[in-house]
Amino acid sequence: MSHDIPLEERPDNATAPDGTTFTRRSFLQGVGIAAGVVTAGVLPAVLTAAPATAAESPIAGTGPAAPIASDDPLAPIIAEDQPANYPGKPVYYADPAGSQKWAMVIDVKACVGCRKCVYACVEENNIGRTSGFTYIQVLEMEPGTVDLETSVLNYEEAGRPDKWYLPVQCMHCAKPPCVYGCPVIATWKEPDGIVVIDYNKCIGCRNCMITCPYGARHFNWVHPEVPAAEVNPKVPVAEKAWTPEKCTFCVQRTRHGQTTACVEACPVGARKFGDLNDPNSDVSILLKTRRVWRLKEDDSTEPMIWYVG
Ligand code: SF4
Ligand code: SF4
Repeated sequence: MSHDIPLEERPDNATAPDGTTFTRRSFLQGVGIAAGVVTAGVLPAVLTAAPATAAESPIAGTGPAAPIASDDPLAPIIAEDQPANYPGKPVYYADPAGSQKWAMVIDVKACVGCRKCVYACVEENNIGRTSGFTYIQVLEMEPGTVDLETSVLNYEEAGRPDKWYLPVQCMHCAKPPCVYGCPVIATWKEPDGIVVIDYNKCIGCRNCMITCPYGARHFNWVHPEVPAAEVNPKVPVAEKAWTPEKCTFCVQRTRHGQTTACVEACPVGARKFGDLNDPNSDVSILLKTRRVWRLKEDDSTEPMIWYVG
């Protein structure tokens, strides 16, 4: 099964019923501004960022970060990643959040651009087979550059030694502009850091899509079509029609002790997912020992996905 629908045929690249036009250029511009923020360093910005104060909180539920009384270099990150717009109810199709603080690290040197993460995500999360989008997009990049304007989304050959590959998706930002942009609190950040959407509450205004700087949300202009035999009963389908959707860090799996579908599917181990509250998790160790970077550091969204390599 191929999900590589020609870009010109994708709804994300089309004119919506309300006249909104989505283009590859706008997506790449959205992410591309990040190019200049790839300043490698061990936890560069986050470790020096001051915790948010209540006065700075733009919405209810984003309280001040807890005081940091630890020499653990991850403590400021964990403190920063507070629930936002959180009305105290768990997402309806998954168990309540535990005590974890979920994060992901993607090794771009290891990634071969095979898109197995993309396909696994589509199947796990009931993404409509004709919806024309995927939660994960893998961009083919020119060596020595992070110029997303010249990156290729619909490349045909993976694993080219003269290219490198950058997977992008929802970053589960510690300070998520999408959440701040929702007028009906239909999207929020849970205590374990996962940004979720209540599809039943969503009014389809798409403000979250406008405010997300990563182009990570995708609107269902059509009813999601998933073959009956392939429906994952743990994830909504019909409810997603006329709402935006995005990566949920496989909330239906990760709150049951499983890793995400993309991590499981990656043949080269380029993806690590885990709990920053666990000092021995892969992600904790990588963040403490490797030079890492994030997309759009300048936007102060504090993504919970880091890149290494
Ligand atoms: Fe929200 Fe976009 Fe950040 Fe995901 S990447 S949490 S959709 S602002
Ligand atoms: Fe890269 Fe792994 Fe995704 Fe393949 S499955 S594109 S190697 S992250």
